[in-house]
Amino acid sequence: MDCIFCNIAQKKAEAFIVYEDEDSIAFLDIFPSAKGHTLVIPKKHYENIQAIPDKDFGKMMVAVKKTANAVMKAMASNGVNLVLNNGKAAGQLIMHLHFHIVPRFDNDGLKLSFLNKKAEKEELEKVCGEVKKYF
Ligand code: 5GP
Ligand code: ZN
Repeated sequence: MDCIFCNIAQKKAEAFIVYEDEDSIAFLDIFPSAKGHTLVIPKKHYENIQAIPDKDFGKMMVAVKKTANAVMKAMASNGVNLVLNNGKAAGQLIMHLHFHIVPRFDNDGLKLSFLNKKAEKEELEKVCGEVKKYF
């Protein structure tokens, strides 16, 4: 099975990793909906919430909370959307469970979409450095 998020978790594919612990890893989305858009995944491959055991989902949620707090501080945002597209019909494109963390600002006019323009590498490097400061 060739899964891009497994490859990122195993450091076989490039990613701008902002946080990692034993079970989870958080990295920047390369097609961001907003600056600082971050994904949090379990390191183990689970396709969806039906597949992940409660214990592992609990650990993932702790990583989501930590990452959302760091992203909000780094981006100086006053809100954040936590989104989990579960299943193809719900817009899940990558079949490795992941949470989206999207920084939000008052009146930013953002209509959440997960089919965006690819970000420049320099921009991702800069944002990654900013978010890492807050763990
Ligand atoms: P989904 O629609 O499955 O919830 O979202 C998948 C997300 O993964 C999208 O927001 C997309 O931009 C992001 N994505 C797709 N391929 C890659 C990749 O190779 N690296 C990173 N960092 N993000 C990716
Ligand atoms: Zn995977």
